Amino acid sequence: MKKGWIILLTAAMMLIGCTGNTEVTQTVPTAEPANAEQTAPTAEPIEVESVIPTEKIEGSSLYVKKVEDLPDDFILGMDASAVIAEEQSGVKYYNFAGEEQDVFKTLAENGVTHIRVRVWNHPYDAEGHGYGGGNNDVLKAVEIGKRATRYGMRLIVDFHYSDFWADPGKQMVPLAWKDMNIREKADALYAFTKDALLTMKAGGVAVGMVQLGNETNGALCGESHFENIARLMQAGGKAVREVCPDALIAVHLANPERDGAYDGFAKKLEAFEVDYDVLASSYYPYWHGTIENLQNVLNGIAEKYGKKVMVMETSYAYTGADTDFSGNTISDESANIVKDYPFTVQGQANNVRNVIDTVAHTKNGIGVVYWEGTWITVGTSSWEENHEKWEKYGSGWASSYGGSYDPNDAGKYYGGCAVDNQAMFDPTGHPLESLRVWNLVRYGNEVEPKADAIRDTAMSFDLKGTIALPETVDAILTSNELVPVPVKWNVTDADIERMYAGGVKTYEITGEAEGLSARMTVSMINFNYLRNFGFEDGVLDPWQTEDRGGADQLYIENKITDSLNGAYHMHFWSAKKDSVDFSLFQEVKDLEAGTYSFTISIMGGDAGDTEIYCYVLIDGVEAGRTPMRITSYGNWDTQTVRDVEVKEGQTVTVGISVKCSGAGNGAWGKIDDALLNRQE
Ligand code: CA
Repeated sequence: MKKGWIILLTAAMMLIGCTGNTEVTQTVPTAEPANAEQTAPTAEPIEVESVIPTEKIEGSSLYVKKVEDLPDDFILGMDASAVIAEEQSGVKYYNFAGEEQDVFKTLAENGVTHIRVRVWNHPYDAEGHGYGGGNNDVLKAVEIGKRATRYGMRLIVDFHYSDFWADPGKQMVPLAWKDMNIREKADALYAFTKDALLTMKAGGVAVGMVQLGNETNGALCGESHFENIARLMQAGGKAVREVCPDALIAVHLANPERDGAYDGFAKKLEAFEVDYDVLASSYYPYWHGTIENLQNVLNGIAEKYGKKVMVMETSYAYTGADTDFSGNTISDESANIVKDYPFTVQGQANNVRNVIDTVAHTKNGIGVVYWEGTWITVGTSSWEENHEKWEKYGSGWASSYGGSYDPNDAGKYYGGCAVDNQAMFDPTGHPLESLRVWNLVRYGNEVEPKADAIRDTAMSFDLKGTIALPETVDAILTSNELVPVPVKWNVTDADIERMYAGGVKTYEITGEAEGLSARMTVSMINFNYLRNFGFEDGVLDPWQTEDRGGADQLYIENKITDSLNGAYHMHFWSAKKDSVDFSLFQEVKDLEAGTYSFTISIMGGDAGDTEIYCYVLIDGVEAGRTPMRITSYGNWDTQTVRDVEVKEGQTVTVGISVKCSGAGNGAWGKIDDALLNRQE
């Protein structure tokens, strides 16, 4: 003890405890207290040397548009929860000079101001095997917190109040608390929070913010009644205020795209008088709606409830490829992914920059945290080699041992890292240029834009027409603008002949533009005589509707996840009984004489009795109809009216008639992709 005090005094170290946005530093006592054993401060000293740059890092090739009016204290955070398990697995991290260096120093040197760490109560089975995901208990968080503090960053403590992952899909109670009633559980949660924060404080960790749960959309710690959720949050918040009075308290939700969900949650927090400062949101652009919607939702919370707001988790893929032999949540093949940015290092940086820009220009917006840029592969040789490390050190998302606690998820799908392609370090631990974004957003780095990726192209050709491949494709520039550039397709005349001969079929072809690879989907189709056949013009014309029942909603909708193909479809919904009764049709004139077929698709539900059919009229007289049905979401019914004989000069009307005798609970549906083809 005595020796420690001498070192401490001579080194003139600073003590840092729990701090909010204002840094609190204390100098140590100048004289040894009379009874050092009892009255010495509990905090261990950490020699703090902030390496967070206060100037622009020059020389980067990364294009970064400056975020205007970014506050000096804006939180630029990185979740680095898995780092210790990664290091135990043999991962080494490097700086931009190629030297091995503490990854926390590298993060701070590139502008990261806060490190976020998840905390599980007891992520170990009865034999002491870790569940994985970094095996993040309180002691790991303390160790990470110390390293973050040392380089001038603050810690965001993410209490899951579970023994393993908590998210909107699961909020499992820690095993040790499973038989407790709500009063006992609140007491236990208070004590756990207090102990954890006291341990951090004793370790000299600079705690900037504390989360009361992780993505607690509808539950927390096994409780789903809001009164109980509120009670637990109050208990956690009380501990935070007592131990870390200067730290911010955050409530963290996911799914901002759910209409009114955040407002509803905040209203209940207010009603139950839950003490918190920040309403934080996850924002994964693949799943969580548009950035404009996010901003609207957060603005609403800030205005209505006076809370600070932020993005607590975001990320973007720098590659579609997996690097650790364990599948990723996002890949080039992911369904329904709207890629506003290419999966490149620059695309990753652009996306992060725009999320920062959005939050910075949201009322009371205080920060953005990335999840989690340091979680990379533990080996580059084989699944077997990596699997051994995931099991031993918990460096994968879940080990097989996690199944003892969470049999339905970890127990079935345990494995490696599912976000290694969204890291900001490459598979060998070297930083990607995108890591510079945290510094460069403050200053801008508008280097000459150049082509970064080629946007995928899709074209359809009539089997009886001409295959004319486009001579240009859209290049996505580093500035995220689109410009046409010349392309050379890897297609021979013989390939073209085979496409004509192959009938109705789809081909993937590749090419090269600006030294980058280009991809194109070529669909060989029978000529479709309908215009705006998939509603992709975004308007009704030249379709027409006859609304016989006065439906509440009947319009062209832009929603990729509800479309059969493309982004648009015809949408209908009505809550009133018997009000869904309409026809959607298009007239076609000047068809060549011949035999035709008409095809269309529908899905929907809640319809009661239905009378739905597609039909063809010739000069106003019905020439054929085929019954259709709606059953449930995502189950498309595709039907065809065949053998329609058309003579020269006749007007053909094709359409779908929908009548639902709903029980008053709202028939709804979607119509898409109409085809009027010559029959062979
Ligand atoms: Ca992976």
